Amino acid sequence: MHTSHLRAATLRLDQFLELKGFRRTQERYTILEEIYSHHDHHHFDANQLREILLEKGFHLSMATVYNTLELFAEAGLIKKHQFGNSPASHYERTLGSRQHDHVVCLDCHCVKEFCDPRMGSIENTVGDWFQTQVLQHSLVFYGHCTDELCPHKAGKNVN
Ligand SMILES: [Zn+2]
Ligand SMILES: [Zn+2]
Repeated sequence: MHTSHLRAATLRLDQFLELKGFRRTQERYTILEEIYSHHDHHHFDANQLREILLEKGFHLSMATVYNTLELFAEAGLIKKHQFGNSPASHYERTLGSRQHDHVVCLDCHCVKEFCDPRMGSIENTVGDWFQTQVLQHSLVFYGHCTDELCPHKAGKNVN
């Protein structure tokens, strides 16, 4: 991830905390830095994020991680997703990330992204129908992935 995105994210968090009258705790900036400097786990849940921070020596309670993620979502720093019937919310950073939608494997729950410019014109068309400006949408496709390690693949080999 480019450091400029981390810098922009830090600035946005500064402004958000000041606007809300919240404290600039070290935890909040540590979590933000982790989200904006990480290359893998583009889509993560609260548990995964906490594990990564633990490995790096940051001991944060689950409540702190959850509260911070909620705060970041409100500040527009991350986006919250609900994929399929997974009980956990998934998150991803927003700054420096292009508009995209998701494909989720029904077996291993891996998340892939795609960007289709037609989505913008669908938003406009639907906006016209309902005389409104569509500001966001949520679209997830589900299927069986072709990953060699996917549990679905293993099941196929048995048959
Ligand atoms: Zn899979
Ligand atoms: Zn995504």
